[in-house]
Amino acid sequence: MKHYTRRAPAGLDRRDDWRDHAACIGLGDLFLPRDEHHVDSTEPKRICAGCPVRLPCFEAAMKEEGTADQFRRAGVRGGLTPAERAALGRRTATGAVERLTAAEQAREEAQAKNGQAIDMIRKGVNDAQIAEVVGLAASTVGKIRRELGIPVQPVPKSIEETYAERTATVDGGHVRWTATSQQATLNGRTYTPARLAFLLGHGREPEGWVYVSCDRPGCVNPEHLTDRPMREQARQAVNA
Ligand code: SF4
Ligand SMILES: [Zn+2]
Repeated sequence: MKHYTRRAPAGLDRRDDWRDHAACIGLGDLFLPRDEHHVDSTEPKRICAGCPVRLPCFEAAMKEEGTADQFRRAGVRGGLTPAERAALGRRTATGAVERLTAAEQAREEAQAKNGQAIDMIRKGVNDAQIAEVVGLAASTVGKIRRELGIPVQPVPKSIEETYAERTATVDGGHVRWTATSQQATLNGRTYTPARLAFLLGHGREPEGWVYVSCDRPGCVNPEHLTDRPMREQARQAVNA
């Protein structure tokens, strides 16, 4: 184990070597006593504290000794005892492993998110919805979509908007379907006016046929519509 209690080795550029400025030159016996069990680090530490090359000395020690335990380190170097440097070396090594694990985790999470986003893009979900579900920025989803070459999906309208855009209230509280098309698409599903109105008013898909219960044919006021379970219930109530 070499210790910087000598001048820089011959052959090095003497002007630039920090070892030439070490405050411990010639103090080998103090810094590296023969009897390792009776090391008193007080005086070496005091000298290190005033040493002009303490930082490069410390860095060189840590680099050379790596993760060695204190028994494979010798003498005070850079102001630290072997035990102090060993503890620091361990912490640095653990820190490096933790940083690596965290980076791997982040990479795996990002991959999982991208995979989920790709699935949803292929299923025709729009970017804003994907961003919300997957937890990615909408711009990131857009980038993935562009890379896949899949065109942007329009943001779907809510059922309220879809209904409001295609209907008008008329006299007597009835509602008229004003759109030319007798179909409306919501979240990728196609509805007849009556079924869309029923879903909006009752919060569930109708079962069986939807009938108009008022006297205005084609009325789409949800309250003027019934499905099979509602009619059965009404019948039972009458028969009871
Ligand atoms: S920091 Fe201490 S061990 Fe390092 S060169 Fe300076 S006096 Fe020597
Ligand atoms: Zn009606």
